[in-house]
Amino acid sequence: MPKKYDTPLLDELEKGPFPSFVTEIKKAAARTEMAAAELGVLERCYREKKTHWKHGGIVGVRGYGGGVIGRYSDVPEDFPEVAHFHTVRINSIAGFFYTSESLRTICDIWDKYGSGLTNLHGSTGDLVLLGTTTDKLEAIFAEYSSRGWDLGGSGSAMRTPSCCVGPARCEWSNIDTLDINYAVTQEFQDEMHRPAFPYKFKFKTVGCAVDCNASIARADCSIIGTWKGNIAVDQAEVANYAKAGMDIQAEIADLCPTQCITYAGGKLAIDDANCSRCMHCIAKMTKALKATGEKGASILIGSKAPFVVGATLSWVIVPFIKMEAPYTEFFALIRKMWEWWDEHGKNRERIGELIIRRGMREFLEYIGVDPVPQQVKEPRRDPFWFWTEDDLNQKPWEAYTK
Ligand code: SF4
Repeated sequence: MPKKYDTPLLDELEKGPFPSFVTEIKKAAARTEMAAAELGVLERCYREKKTHWKHGGIVGVRGYGGGVIGRYSDVPEDFPEVAHFHTVRINSIAGFFYTSESLRTICDIWDKYGSGLTNLHGSTGDLVLLGTTTDKLEAIFAEYSSRGWDLGGSGSAMRTPSCCVGPARCEWSNIDTLDINYAVTQEFQDEMHRPAFPYKFKFKTVGCAVDCNASIARADCSIIGTWKGNIAVDQAEVANYAKAGMDIQAEIADLCPTQCITYAGGKLAIDDANCSRCMHCIAKMTKALKATGEKGASILIGSKAPFVVGATLSWVIVPFIKMEAPYTEFFALIRKMWEWWDEHGKNRERIGELIIRRGMREFLEYIGVDPVPQQVKEPRRDPFWFWTEDDLNQKPWEAYTK
């Protein structure tokens, strides 16, 4: 029987209406010594108000540079069962569609070699297995890979790409997010398994600007489905929404970011030339409005959580690109971006931070993309000033220092 620890502080986290990670660890702790010791360490961390996990140390499997994250306890003498507590990242399925059989296989292997604790999914999107020892890593990898699973990305590498459920469950998706996610994974296998970048690089793909994967805030490259045609309006359905109590003026027209919707006499009209494809109106009136015409994606670069500089959202680099297999144009563009980042990026500098440091102009010039007016946040307030040779030779401060 695994050892039992007193956990008065952790027990507090089981109170209240929400599911508790403590309850889940306790279930695993009834079966494995590692999970039991993990509870003991965690209680001590809360009691002493400091972590007892050390991050780092190079651990991995042969032929891979990433996919396993080394974790060690700094109190191994008190908790020998978790002296090593490495994290294994499994490359998740596009859209997170698993069969129950595949989940059972994953858990059975993990029960054999690890703590039994999992995290579906980590914030990058991997299926995360928490807590094993260095000597078990090769066996774990052999078992998972023999059943068709691969490790995900970690370190200064391309990270495991993720996407929304896309056309599998959502009729509003403008692109096949699942196929793009799979194609990106296959195309950049080397970049994912052998960290060679200045820092991490994440792809996230979503079918429309509702952005169910929060790609605009979490990916170095956000691929967001969009369209070129007009928004088709079904006026009978618009009338039904009004009849059901929707305040179309306040909830739809007034919230359109470009103010291109008018609602008068019970009819809704859209000035499509000024629509920024934000999806607000369509998402609110799914029965009445539908995007039409050519479908593709906007490519955005540079979002990330706070680190060297604060959190950033992605910038639109390519407003519209066709996203159809084999995605040749898109992959070539990405390789160009990586070349520039590789050349100029400092250690642990994300591509978005490099763009801030060296300028969007240099970045766009290098990757061969023309700037567009919409990339300018606001026009200059001052009139343009044309400096002459004489202006440059003047030293106005001399008038005050004589
Ligand atoms: Fe306005 Fe957005 Fe609807 Fe376009 S998609 S009409 S910008 S609310």
